[in-house]
Amino acid sequence: MTDKYTAVWVSHSSMGDFLKCPRLYYLHNMYKDKKTGHKITIVNPHMSLGVAVHEVLEALADYPANERMKRDLLLDFEEAWKKVSGKKGGFTSDEEEHEFKQRGIVMLENVRQDPKFLVNKRIKLPRETMNPNFFLSEDHNIILNGLVDWIEYLPDDTLHIIDFKTGKKEEQETSLQLPIYLLLCNALQKRKVSRASYWYLESGNVVEKELPDADTAYRDVMEVAMKVKEARRIAKREGEDKVFVCPRGAYDSNTKEGGCFNCIPYEKILAGDESVEFVGIGGFNQDMYIVKKML
Ligand code: SF4
Repeated sequence: MTDKYTAVWVSHSSMGDFLKCPRLYYLHNMYKDKKTGHKITIVNPHMSLGVAVHEVLEALADYPANERMKRDLLLDFEEAWKKVSGKKGGFTSDEEEHEFKQRGIVMLENVRQDPKFLVNKRIKLPRETMNPNFFLSEDHNIILNGLVDWIEYLPDDTLHIIDFKTGKKEEQETSLQLPIYLLLCNALQKRKVSRASYWYLESGNVVEKELPDADTAYRDVMEVAMKVKEARRIAKREGEDKVFVCPRGAYDSNTKEGGCFNCIPYEKILAGDESVEFVGIGGFNQDMYIVKKML
């Protein structure tokens, strides 16, 4: 039976965590602080840069095509940056913040000089307060949600999915990002998606990717979503500490050994370690932390 409140919600981020390891999925997507009742998250400069740049570019979709580039993108960026400035954005020094902010300015300057798809017609997927979402499987009560950065409407009545990249790393070929975007577009509107591209904003490069066919996309996403659902089901029965375990060598808060780059900050929060610091409550009501010392 479908029920949005009891459904398992999956996204590119949560399934990405699960694929790295089930314990990371648990720490980032399920664990709730006993005192605050909030989930926990680590803020870092890379994430904050991405959030601020995306906010500026995605907001352009609300303006008519011919007015978008009349906006002062750098002024909009100043406003967006206020929300991530300082510790709440994961910055541990003024120099570090300046360096990342400059990178954002370069990206938006690139966009101003060559706005590419941003001056063309676009569509938006329907949404209410949550990200666009749909029942990936009604039988299994699984909802897929995600936000496609930009959807260009092409003259042949098809769509072009564009993902803004603020990092330098190329998206892996095995990434579920495009399959997820394709499924969201197919489920939430009627036009065919004919193209998909990653737009690396710092270099200005656009890399067009081959789209998976819808059946393959569904199969690949569903396979991971079912693993997530199954792990949660067993954890409910047997306990989270039995299912969401480290497959390598778990972090030990007493010896400070074990763990890996992905999970150590979260484990330190759970252990009340002094190297992590609470910096505020995020937009989705998560307790936000920064890592004060190098791992
Ligand atoms: S050390 Fe273990 S628990 Fe931590 S992310 Fe790596 S595999 Fe997962």
